[in-house]
Amino acid sequence: MNNYGLDIWSNNNFIVEDGQLKLNYKSMPSLLQIIEEIRSNDVRGPILLRFPHLIKRQIKSLYSYFDKAMNENSYKGKFNAVFPLKVNQFPHAVEAITSQGAQFNYGLEAGSKAELILAMSKTPIGANITVNGFKDKEMITLGFIAAQSGHNITITIEGLGELETIIEVAKECNLKVPHIGIRVRLHSAGSGIWAKSGGMDAKFGLTSTEIIEAIKLLREDNLLQHLSMIHFHIGSQMSDIAPLKRALREAGNIYAELKKMGAEALDSINIGGGLAVEYNQHTHSKSRNYSVEEFSSSVVFLLKEIMDAKKVQHPNIFTESGRFIVASHAVLITPVLELFTQDYQEKLINFKEVNPPLINELIDLNKLLNNKNCIEYLHDALDHMESILTLFDLGYIDLQDRSNAEILVHNIIKKALYLTSSNPTNELEELQVRLQERYLINASIFQSLPDYWGLNQHFPIMPLHNLNSVPLRAASLWDITCDSDGEIGFNPEKPLYLHDVNLDEEEYYLGFFNVGAYQETLGMNHNLFTHPSEYTIHVNDSGYEITNEVESKNILDILESIGYEKNEILNKLKTDLSSSEFITEKEKDDTLAKLQIFLKQNGYLRTTY
Ligand SMILES: *Cc1c(COP(=O)(O)O)cnc(C)c1O
Repeated sequence: MNNYGLDIWSNNNFIVEDGQLKLNYKSMPSLLQIIEEIRSNDVRGPILLRFPHLIKRQIKSLYSYFDKAMNENSYKGKFNAVFPLKVNQFPHAVEAITSQGAQFNYGLEAGSKAELILAMSKTPIGANITVNGFKDKEMITLGFIAAQSGHNITITIEGLGELETIIEVAKECNLKVPHIGIRVRLHSAGSGIWAKSGGMDAKFGLTSTEIIEAIKLLREDNLLQHLSMIHFHIGSQMSDIAPLKRALREAGNIYAELKKMGAEALDSINIGGGLAVEYNQHTHSKSRNYSVEEFSSSVVFLLKEIMDAKKVQHPNIFTESGRFIVASHAVLITPVLELFTQDYQEKLINFKEVNPPLINELIDLNKLLNNKNCIEYLHDALDHMESILTLFDLGYIDLQDRSNAEILVHNIIKKALYLTSSNPTNELEELQVRLQERYLINASIFQSLPDYWGLNQHFPIMPLHNLNSVPLRAASLWDITCDSDGEIGFNPEKPLYLHDVNLDEEEYYLGFFNVGAYQETLGMNHNLFTHPSEYTIHVNDSGYEITNEVESKNILDILESIGYEKNEILNKLKTDLSSSEFITEKEKDDTLAKLQIFLKQNGYLRTTY
């Protein structure tokens, strides 16, 4: 049995029961059942499922651990969280965050003009909006408009130039001034592969000299009463908690110093995001060395310690965790279309009347292989194969002989693996790896797992069913793009074993987990494969409800989205077909009708499965 590391990455969100993967919530539907229901409406290709209850779970856990830590430490400040839109701006993800977060007054963070407009239209009045990233005068004016419209908005400056612009806008218009935040440049850097946001050479933030200058400017222009927050973000997916603690000490002391310098309205520290997600599905390496509980109690404890020592009121704590909040809520499900070792079938052997002696020996080895001799016979077979390949290169045997030999040797290895499967040697394990089966999945890695392609970020992968039989095939996954990078290769250190399935008789679905953060907007339309069809699943006590269907774009829409004229393409296809020869008018009409149907479907493959 293989549980695919469920106990490591799934946080009890899923369980295996009766050989199927099920949601560990309320009526506990199996993912297979949900997928089959969706596909019964003729939906084909990859499917993205969103589970809002998993967002709620993350939000609740963040709030309850901070509440607990604040209570235990008699901490006086409040805890607030905003969701950074760059992590997932898709409407049904944002809708799930704002609805599941409503009771916590959950806010949104924006890093660009478009995100700010989205935040202004989706944040309930009273919840927080924070704005980070580089800003021009227009974007800063948008912040004033948001404040004027009643939003609780903080614009965090990334440099003195932005502060000067804020001062300019405040002078020029009569709109309400938003809260002002300062992003501090820390000398301590983060950890993990995304840790480029902290440190002296960081892209963002003010140095201590610039912070002093900022206070001076704010005071001169009578805006110091709007400075409410200092902010830092040490990078995403922090693998280690130590750099966060260093950053907190630094930022905490900066905060206390600013209070002493007369920044009276300053009342919040925003610790950014970076809380890591467990993507690992193998026991020997973990994605992070801390729990959410340790994270929250470290933050609260350290800030209290610093403030008490400097006799400064405890600040409110803001977080901008993105990955941690949404990664688990989305699951990508892809059908397997084909397995690529079927070509080594014994029935394809075509012996000659007189075979080369080495082939005759392979025939005997294949026939006589048993429990006792299998290792020895396997070695002989591998040895013969080497010789046969050399003979082929030298021109002594032909392609048919080579093919026969490959099938025989493949068979011998398979039998040996089977006979030793309860107790495999290292050598056999290695062979297993070399004989990996390629599973063709109806999806694009570029579109749906761009961080795998770009950063080699591993996502947990497992079948949705067949989970009460032992998976024996070392698997690599091929996507349907015609790009050799569209492959998740077999990795002996993080092996994926899948089941031997006969796709003519059964379907086989793979789930890719924790794909709810960053993957969707980073995904690209390579080969013109677009976003998978997506659905929101609300699980209740008696079953589940499928809502918010967004079908993957159809072929004409894909072409239109990159600038082609739909009608021009359609008309050209029609005219060419109509003016063609050698088929009847009826056949033309039928073909046209067929074409119309094809063009209204998405670009993923439509085999039976
Ligand atoms: C990207 C970003 C975040 C979110 O980081 P996660 O690792 O997804 O939690 C938070 N704050 C800022 C300023 C960011 O740029």
